[in-house]
Amino acid sequence: MHLQVARKCKFFSKNCLHLDFKESQQGAGKSHKEAQEKDFIKLFSELDSDIPLVCVCGNHDIGNTPTHQSVQNYKATFGDDHFSFWVGGVHCIVLNSQFFKDASQVPDLLEEQDAWLDAELKQTGFQHRIVFQHIPWFLHEADEEDDYFSVDLRVRMRYLDKFKAHGVRTIFSGHYHRNAGGWFGEMEAPVTSAIGAQLGNDSSGMRVVTVTEDEVLHKYYALGDVPTKVDL
Ligand SMILES: [Zn+2]
Repeated sequence: MHLQVARKCKFFSKNCLHLDFKESQQGAGKSHKEAQEKDFIKLFSELDSDIPLVCVCGNHDIGNTPTHQSVQNYKATFGDDHFSFWVGGVHCIVLNSQFFKDASQVPDLLEEQDAWLDAELKQTGFQHRIVFQHIPWFLHEADEEDDYFSVDLRVRMRYLDKFKAHGVRTIFSGHYHRNAGGWFGEMEAPVTSAIGAQLGNDSSGMRVVTVTEDEVLHKYYALGDVPTKVDL
């Protein structure tokens, strides 16, 4: 995602490397993962230094059932797994959504992120508040049934209510390898397909997000169609 906010502020967000983590724990799989991480870092070091890169932690980064070790490894390579930043008047919150899916091995890390999130949501003075996470809360409808590609309903509603109560405007996610998304009241939750493998009929691509004073606009582009310039 490439977000342009009020004149020149912009950043590029990558959502999970989608390496095959299961095979990546040892032997050839491990060196394969390391090689992919190296490639990623090399490639993105060519990103214009004017454009901050924001990494969002996903299941293939830390495993479907994260452990303290896998989270620690991720942090050592990519930095914090949850954090916030401001771009102009936009309060951006990045979450480690794997904890919402399965925190059985890391209940303390979920608790820590929850406490941190509550403190973040107490901040005021934002024009827009946007959340970034890997796994979507839902794919189409907020009350749809549980799915591998979304957060389970029993956890989902608690957070959606909290976000809504604290003025979150948009929640961006990936993981599904297809474009999808829906609304929860006034809050939009677009799901962005992948730059790599597709599981549906979309083309590999990225979503360009444009934030104006009143709106958070977004559009998915196939790689060949990504605009070289975004007018505000
Ligand atoms: Zn994923």
